[in-house]
Amino acid sequence: MSTVEKPQVETGTMDGEDDPGDLSRPQPASPVDMPRLERAIREILAAVGEDPDREGLLETPNRVARMYAELFSGLHDEPREHLQKVFTEKYDEVVLVRDISFNSMCEHHLLPFMGKAHIGYIPNGKVLGLSKLARVVESVSRRPQVQERMTEEIAHLLESGLDAKGVAVVVEATHTCMTIRGVRKPGSLCVTSAMKGLFRTNQSSRAEIMQLIYGDRR
Ligand code: ZN
Repeated sequence: MSTVEKPQVETGTMDGEDDPGDLSRPQPASPVDMPRLERAIREILAAVGEDPDREGLLETPNRVARMYAELFSGLHDEPREHLQKVFTEKYDEVVLVRDISFNSMCEHHLLPFMGKAHIGYIPNGKVLGLSKLARVVESVSRRPQVQERMTEEIAHLLESGLDAKGVAVVVEATHTCMTIRGVRKPGSLCVTSAMKGLFRTNQSSRAEIMQLIYGDRR
């Protein structure tokens, strides 16, 4: 049985000690109430009829608590901070970063949904460092979410923070609450979009961004 060893491997990858450079890991001063979280997870195990004191489950509450702290770390992050560093550029054509992978937690079932975000904008004299778009996605996705709101939040943040002429956000994701429970439809993909400014009002701008996102792969 590898049940004793496997969790230790997971522990190593989740506590961040093996990869201190990754800022998406929970930081030491996490504002999450870990003892409370551990008690709750122990309670879940007991409630479903398990024995939280059996050997294989002894460290599970602590491990799961740290996992939740990581998955919900966006709650303690202010996504607007990632929009502070902008550069003045005359460029006023579409900027698109596509295939920004993310994983989030469906707030209705606390099950993960994961997929890709595509973010495009038309600058209005200010451009953002490209990695910052991914930071915004990370910040917004690492909290209890619904995909529709997440899509809108990203678009709103960029529109207000960048003063862009247009913002387009397309998010596509698989929801495990639809694939492993409930209607159980593996392979189903949920696609949401939020269009602001020129992408909303101008048909050709909208067509251009959709072509850039999907053109060569549909
Ligand atoms: Zn759900």
